[in-house]
Amino acid sequence: MRIIDVREITQPIASPIRNAYIDFSKMTTSLVAVVTDVVRDGRRVVGYGFNSNGRYGQGGLIHERFRDRILEAPPESLLDENADNLDPHKIWAAMMTNEKPGGHGERSVAVGTLDMAVWDAVAKIAGKPLFRLLAERKGREANPKVFVYAAGGYYYPGKDDAALRAEMRGYLDRGYTVVKMKIGGAPIAEDRRRIEAVLAEIGSDAQLAVDANGRFDLETGIAYAKMLRDYPLFWYEEAGDPLDHALQAALSEFYPGPMATGENLFSHQDARNLLRYGGMRPDRDWLQFDCALSYGLVEYLRTLDVLAQFGWSPSRCIPHGGHQMSLNIAAGLGLGGNESYPDLFQPYGGFPDSVRVEGGHIVMPDLPGIGFEGKSDLIKVMRQLAE
Ligand SMILES: [Mg+2]
Repeated sequence: MRIIDVREITQPIASPIRNAYIDFSKMTTSLVAVVTDVVRDGRRVVGYGFNSNGRYGQGGLIHERFRDRILEAPPESLLDENADNLDPHKIWAAMMTNEKPGGHGERSVAVGTLDMAVWDAVAKIAGKPLFRLLAERKGREANPKVFVYAAGGYYYPGKDDAALRAEMRGYLDRGYTVVKMKIGGAPIAEDRRRIEAVLAEIGSDAQLAVDANGRFDLETGIAYAKMLRDYPLFWYEEAGDPLDHALQAALSEFYPGPMATGENLFSHQDARNLLRYGGMRPDRDWLQFDCALSYGLVEYLRTLDVLAQFGWSPSRCIPHGGHQMSLNIAAGLGLGGNESYPDLFQPYGGFPDSVRVEGGHIVMPDLPGIGFEGKSDLIKVMRQLAE
């Protein structure tokens, strides 16, 4: 059993939207394939992965360093104890050979993307859905029912309150019970008006979360906290710079409701610093680390260990990114749910074709691997890369 090839192609996932910090008009993603010599059900096992939106494709790093380290490692050194499957932890260690600690920049995205493909292959070789494999290995019961919320409410040219309300109404019509909109890309009075428009639209049918994408300095973050606490929000997300833990801690004195952050922290060490210094409250706040941006599931398991050390339940995690990898982790390891972008970042994000959102939840189908084969537009693009 061995990995015979690792392929990567950088694809556009451009969209004319913007948040408070960036626009997505030139956004790209890396699509990767880990090709094995294993055959299951008459077909060669290929694991697939892609990087989560918001960070760019990683072709440079993958082709210069990480691909070769996997292919040059002795094949038997990448297998698990019984030599009947690949070992994601050993493959991870091979990829990170000769990488210094710290500085978790773009490299965590490249490794996270390849790690997704490795886990897809491992679950396919085992012949089961990844979420069931993860639950089994952890000695717990899988729960295929996963909470999902609709992330949208971006700024884009010509979008008025009526269009924003219609967008949110559309998410409710599709079964979501929590919707999210961007703030911080407009003056505070305008954002207040947008928030009130959405709250008037959704009434008691759903709850609203808001996301500042790390835009605010302390003064602005506090001004928004004072404005936002007038409303019953689901959460106030990423107010300040992702690494400014003192700012996050200070805000908790002005905002008694739930806050969320973590999508731009890319390692278990960074997660630990957030819990040490960010003033996050385990009884109400939410953690949004996205494994596809932060060295993959091998590293995410370490992050979950850090959470346990600090008294946090995995159920306080609702990852960023809207991909099926995090859905599997949620269903297998008991996370609180997953983000979802109903109309964006296609064909990568979203659910298998048979899945519907009902009452704010989806039910994971029993597909081998991560489940990409159940999403026809996505698997078509994937197979063009490697099959
Ligand atoms: Mg966000």
